[in-house]
Amino acid sequence: MKDFIFSLFFGLTVAIAHAAPGHVHGEARMEISVDREQLVVALEIPLDSLLGFERAPRNASEREAVQGMATKLKDAGKVLMPSAAALCTSTGVALDSPVLGGKSEPGGHNDIDARYTWRCAKSEALREIAAGLFADFPRLQRITVEFAGPQGQRAGRLDARNPRFSW
Ligand SMILES: [Zn+2]
Repeated sequence: MKDFIFSLFFGLTVAIAHAAPGHVHGEARMEISVDREQLVVALEIPLDSLLGFERAPRNASEREAVQGMATKLKDAGKVLMPSAAALCTSTGVALDSPVLGGKSEPGGHNDIDARYTWRCAKSEALREIAAGLFADFPRLQRITVEFAGPQGQRAGRLDARNPRFSW
């Protein structure tokens, strides 16, 4: 009985420790919003899924890994591909993470936030986005998606075999 209570308590503690919202290793979150010709995608990705570590870089090769990650994420056309027929032009990429400044947040878990914006000349033809992240970052296994646009709200899940979200 004592063992049972101990494992119950321990199990609960572990569950709470992993309950930080939006931070499951291997899983990213994506919010897509379409407002007339403006398309905005916000990504929140645990650094573990991109770098394999979630703390400040400690040496030259880790600093290089951080730079390499940032370079890949800034290449909007490779990270996210909106419907070609919508004629979307990237208007900005913003990355935010403590590791970009050589730091990390206390507590052991760190994310990167990436925000992408486009202007789409034929937004009525905008019906999907394909994620190109899975090839570059094999530790990333899933992306949970929330969509808001003229078609209403939708949710979905992407992975390497199914990297397209349609609406
Ligand atoms: Zn973490």
